[in-house]
Order: sequence, then structure tokens, then C-alpha cells
Amino acid sequence: MIRASDRVETYYDHARELVDLGGAYTCSCEAGAFSDMKNSGEACPHREKDVETVREEFEAMVAGEYESGEMVLRVRTDIDHKNPALRDFVAFRMIDTPHPREEAAEYRAWPMLDFQSGIDDHLTGVTHIIRGIDLQDSAKRQRFVYDYFGWEYPEVVHWGKIQIDAYDVKMSTSTIRSLVESGDLDGWDDPRAPTLASVKRRGIRGEAVVDAIVELGTSTSDVDLAMSTVYAKNRELVDDESDRRFLVRDGAAIPVEGGPDAAHPPLHPDHEDRGRRDIPVRDAVLVELEDVPDVGERVWLKGYGCVRYEDPVDGEASFVFTDDDIDAVREEGVPVIHWVPAAESVPVTLRTMDGDVSGHAEPSFRDYAPDDVVQFERVGFARVDSVPEDAAEEHVAYYTHP
Ligand SMILES: [Zn+2]
Repeated sequence: MIRASDRVETYYDHARELVDLGGAYTCSCEAGAFSDMKNSGEACPHREKDVETVREEFEAMVAGEYESGEMVLRVRTDIDHKNPALRDFVAFRMIDTPHPREEAAEYRAWPMLDFQSGIDDHLTGVTHIIRGIDLQDSAKRQRFVYDYFGWEYPEVVHWGKIQIDAYDVKMSTSTIRSLVESGDLDGWDDPRAPTLASVKRRGIRGEAVVDAIVELGTSTSDVDLAMSTVYAKNRELVDDESDRRFLVRDGAAIPVEGGPDAAHPPLHPDHEDRGRRDIPVRDAVLVELEDVPDVGERVWLKGYGCVRYEDPVDGEASFVFTDDDIDAVREEGVPVIHWVPAAESVPVTLRTMDGDVSGHAEPSFRDYAPDDVVQFERVGFARVDSVPEDAAEEHVAYYTHP
């Protein structure tokens, strides 16, 4: 790491050299007056000072003999340059307040960022600079200095802003901060916050974010980053290792009649060797409200089998096991749905970008530990965030993506 306050003498040495090369002059114009002259393409009377005088006045700056605003060192560029921001810009100015670091407290003449970073880039062998499009003038200013020294300017890549599409509200850093402080967001890693901390807590790997951004390439215009791209990258990373479980959100309990007393779907459909889950089916199952079929219609309870939804006039609505084989799904278009047993299921709060959702996971969800990634079948991936000591209490998972 380079600390400018450790390198002030280096900047002074380069300023002296620049003065000797005729590339800089001391100027005591009042800032507003200089600006007026500069904007009309007029040189100030100090521009033609002889090098001797400039040297003396710069040493007086270094010695702290001026106060803030009394004297600056300007780089002699082109007073007619079509961009006024590049005309004879300031390289050093006086600062009255001592630097907070004790080692640098005696310095009063301080370089401006463009001068300082330009010198540092060259001395540290920087070959490529990646910076925001809003800093385009920096490269142009620094090129004047490089030309005086006969240095080769690094390759510059300018980047536009990246907008992320998935968040409804455009949240700036200060907006997020105030929402965190007011308690409207739980913290910087609240799933609703468009932050890397939030994306991480949801279980999205840094690699997925980096890959998606690299794929955007470099563009000087503002670009949109589709979160779906990040999700696709992350899915490739986590799909293989994420075992499957069932999670039913806000489910309806429906009794099951007939049929086996347990289901044994695989932990991962591509990895039979990992084994199977054991889901007891006692008296009833929970299914998502939108998955409840019309009366008389069948559904396939995934990993269990085919049931028909029956709603007798005087009895309790129930799923009646039909013993159909899997061809019913393939040929007759019976929908396959996920489910959990009504008893013994695990209460889960799923934290999502749209708020918290409560649900129930199948009993073996208790096997998970914080940071594990699971795929809830037909719901999506989630990162297990906290597991209570008492398994009957609420587990918390963060929704990753579909
Ligand atoms: Zn002047």
C-alpha cells in the first residue's frame, strides 16, 4: 500500500524537476480571478515568470511560508485548450490544517490528487488504469505531466456505472445507510439491500458476481447488470453440491388415505450414491395453496406417488392414493408437486428480497448447519442462516435464487 503522506518529498522532487523543465509556475492569483481569465483563454501575469523565481516561490511553499489560497503551483498546459478544466491546473496548494498523521504534520504544501497519483503510477510501474468515466479529465491532466517528463502514459480503461436490475428502489449508499439506521433494514446484509454483504448472506458466491461483471466487459456507457446472470453463474457453482429438500410455504394440510407410510426421494437426482431422504407420511401432508388441485383431479406428490383430491359433501377433503405409475405424469399430464408431512415438519423463515416468508421443511432439514446451501425443490436455492437449539423452533434460511 502506498500512502501519499509518506511520499511528500518525492512529490516535491518531481515538482522541482517539472519547474526546471518549464512545466509549472507559481501563481498567486485569487482563485475566482484566475478562473475568469482561464475561462476566457487568457494567461495570468504569473505564467511568464522566470524559472528562478518560480523555484524560489515553490521552495517558500514547501517551507510553509504561505497560507491557504495565497500561492499555488500550476502545471503549464494549454491556456486555449478546448476543455477549460485542463487549462493550467493546480498541482500543489497550501493547506493550513496540519495533516492528522504526526509524520506528515509539518507539511503545508500538498499535491492535488491528479498530480500525486500520476507520479505514483509511473514510479510504481502501473501499466493499466481502470477508473470511472467521471474521472476522464484526470488522464488528460496527467498526460501533460507525463509529456514533460517523457514518460509513457499507462493504458486507461474508463468504466460507466453499473446498474443492477433486480432491485425496485434505486438505493444509493446514503439511502441504505439511513434505512439501516432507522431499522427499516436489518443491516447492510438485509436481503432487500442491494449490497455485496446481502448477496453473500443469501449464499451467492463472490466468483459468480465476478464472472458476471467480467462478462459485461468494459464500457464507457452505463451498463445494466442482470441479476439473472449472477444467478445463472451461481447455480452452476452450487447445483451439484446442493442436496434437495422440500419446503412448503403457507401450506394447506390435507389428509392422505391409503398409500405407503413413507417416501424416499433421492438427496440429489444426479447422485443416487448420496442416498435418499426418509419422509414419514402419517396422516396428512402440507402442500402449497396454489398446488391444491380441483376436486377429482390428481397430483403427483414428488417422491411419493399419485393421489386424487376428493372432497365428499359430508366428509373431510383428502388425497386418496391411486397407485398410478409414473406414466400418469408423463402421458396424462398429472402435475408433480412438492409437499411435507403435516406432523414433524420443521418451521422455517425464508428471508427473501421481497420480505420474509414462513414455511415448513421436511424433517431431515434438521440435518443442516449454518452456511449449508440447499435446493428447496420447485422453490429455489437457499443458504441456511441459523439453526435453533430446539429443533421445533424456527430455522432461518436466506433465499438465494430460483
Ligand atoms: Zn496567476
